Amino acid sequence: MEVIMAKYGEIALKGLNRSSFEDLLVRNVRRRLKPLGEFDITRRQSTIFIQPLSEDIDMDMAVKKVCSVFGIAAVQRSAVLPKDMDEIIRQGIPYLADALERAKSFKVEAKRSDKKFPLTSPQIQQALGIAIGEAYPDLEADMHSPELTVMVEIRDKAAYVNAEKLPAAGGMPVGSNGNALLLLSGGIDSPVAAFMMAKRGLRVDAVHFQSPPYTSERALMKVETLCEKLTEYCGDIRFYCVPFTEIQEALRDNCSGDYFTVIMRRLMLKIANRLCERGSYGALITGESVGQVASQTLAAISCTDKAAEYPVLRPLVGMDKKEIIEIARRIDTFETSILPYEDCCTVFTPKHPKTKPLLKDVLAEEEKFDFSPLIEKAIGGITVKDFKLG
Ligand code: ATP
Ligand code: MG
Repeated sequence: MEVIMAKYGEIALKGLNRSSFEDLLVRNVRRRLKPLGEFDITRRQSTIFIQPLSEDIDMDMAVKKVCSVFGIAAVQRSAVLPKDMDEIIRQGIPYLADALERAKSFKVEAKRSDKKFPLTSPQIQQALGIAIGEAYPDLEADMHSPELTVMVEIRDKAAYVNAEKLPAAGGMPVGSNGNALLLLSGGIDSPVAAFMMAKRGLRVDAVHFQSPPYTSERALMKVETLCEKLTEYCGDIRFYCVPFTEIQEALRDNCSGDYFTVIMRRLMLKIANRLCERGSYGALITGESVGQVASQTLAAISCTDKAAEYPVLRPLVGMDKKEIIEIARRIDTFETSILPYEDCCTVFTPKHPKTKPLLKDVLAEEEKFDFSPLIEKAIGGITVKDFKLG
C-alpha cells in the first residue's frame, strides 16, 4: 500500500491559528484531488496522509496535484509497512528498487515518533543500511553527501519508507489571508499576478473590462480560459465582466489622448473599488511591473493609484518579463495569453501617451467629462460567472 505524505512548514504557521490553518489546508488538498477519485485524507504530526481508496487511482497525477497546493512544503510518496524491522527490510527494499538501482551512494535516515518501537533511530538506520548494502553491493554508503537518502519513519499506525522528498509549492493555504480582486486582462502578466498572490494565501476573484465590438467574443473566451486554468492554483474564482465600451468611447471623445491610458486605468479602479465594497475584497491585484510600458512608469502608477480606495498589490513590480514568462509557462497560462486577440487597452491606445503625467493634469482632463452615470451603468451591466476547481 502506498500513501502520499504532505508536509507543511512550521514557519508558515506563525501568527495563525494553527488548527484552522491545518483544516483549511486539508480541505484544499481534498478539493484538488477530488477529480482523481476517493482518498482517505487525515493529518497527524504536521503531516497530511493521503491514501488512495482504490487501485486504479493515478498516483503520479495525485502527487503532482498535491505538490501544487499552496501551503504544502514537501511531498513524499511512501510505502506503508508494518511496524516490524524484518518486514520493513523485506518489503521496503523491493519498494525502493528503482531508486536504489539508479543511485551510486546512499544513506538511511530514520525518525521514530513512536518511542515504543523496539529499535532506536540509529539502530533502524543501521539495520536497513546493512540490508540495502547486501542487496546492492555496488551501492556505496555515504553519510555526508549521498545521492539517495532513504527515509524510514515509525509513526503511530505504521512504518513509512520512501526515498525521495519532492519540493512542493510552499506559500500559504489559499483562503488563509482573505480575499482580493484581480484585474485580469488577456495578457501574460495578470494571470501570473493571481498565482503569486494565491501563493500568499489570498483567495482571488477576477474582474475583466471588455469593449465589444472593439474586442471580440474570442477575446473574452481567452480570458475565461485563463480563469479556468487559474482555478488549478487559486481554487474557485468568481469572474466579473464589465461592459467598458461606452466609457472608453466617452474617454476618447472628451479627453486628450495623451492621458487616455492613465484615465482609463483610473476608471477601471473606480469600478473595481465598488466591486470590493460589494464582495468584501480587501485588496486589488494587478500585473503591473515598473517601467514595462508607458502606463507603468512611477508617475503613471502614482496617478492610477490615487483612484484606488484599496491597497493595490502588484506582485510583479520588480520582476523582469523573462521571469514573468517563466512562471506563466510553469502555470500553463502562457500559450493562452499570447493568443493574438485584441484587448480593450490596445483598441484606443494613443500614439504618444504621457510617460510622466502629473496628477493635477490627469484630474483636470478627467473632469472634462462626468463619467459617473456611465460608471453606474457599467456596474449595472456586470455579468458574473463562477469557475470551479476541477
Ligand atoms: P497583462 O499582461 O496583464 O495584460 P500588460 O503588461 O499588458 O499586463 P497593461 O496592459 O498595461 O500591462 O495592464 C496592466 C494591468 O492592468 C494588467 O496586468 C491588469 O491587471 C490590468 N488590466 C489591463 N487591461 C485590463 C482589462 N481589460 N481588464 C482587467 N484588467 C486589465
Ligand atoms: Mg495587457
